[in-house]
Amino acid sequence: MSSSKTTSPVAAPIRRALATRKKVAGSRTDIGWQHGTDVLGNGKKVKCKYCSKIVTGIFRFKRHLAGNRDDAGPCASVPDDVKYLFMKIVAEADELAMKKTIDGH
Ligand SMILES: [Zn+2]
Repeated sequence: MSSSKTTSPVAAPIRRALATRKKVAGSRTDIGWQHGTDVLGNGKKVKCKYCSKIVTGIFRFKRHLAGNRDDAGPCASVPDDVKYLFMKIVAEADELAMKKTIDGH
């Protein structure tokens, strides 16, 4: 009976943390939900409060409000203050994604 350490003691807590994060991502606490309605009740389709357009995914919906030329298209009826707010949120998210890529390099 030899105790060979093949499994890292760090692996289990990390896996648990990832599982918890996944649960949090599914909750509707995102700021985007303040400007749209959950159409299907599962957070996958968002109906815009301003132009009634249905956008797939909360992230894409945020881009819609920010006026990005995504496949959803920019929102025509969003108030300027909301538009600027989401422009900032989308820019920050993009920056964070870029930083993550650099870190992983
Ligand atoms: Zn809209």
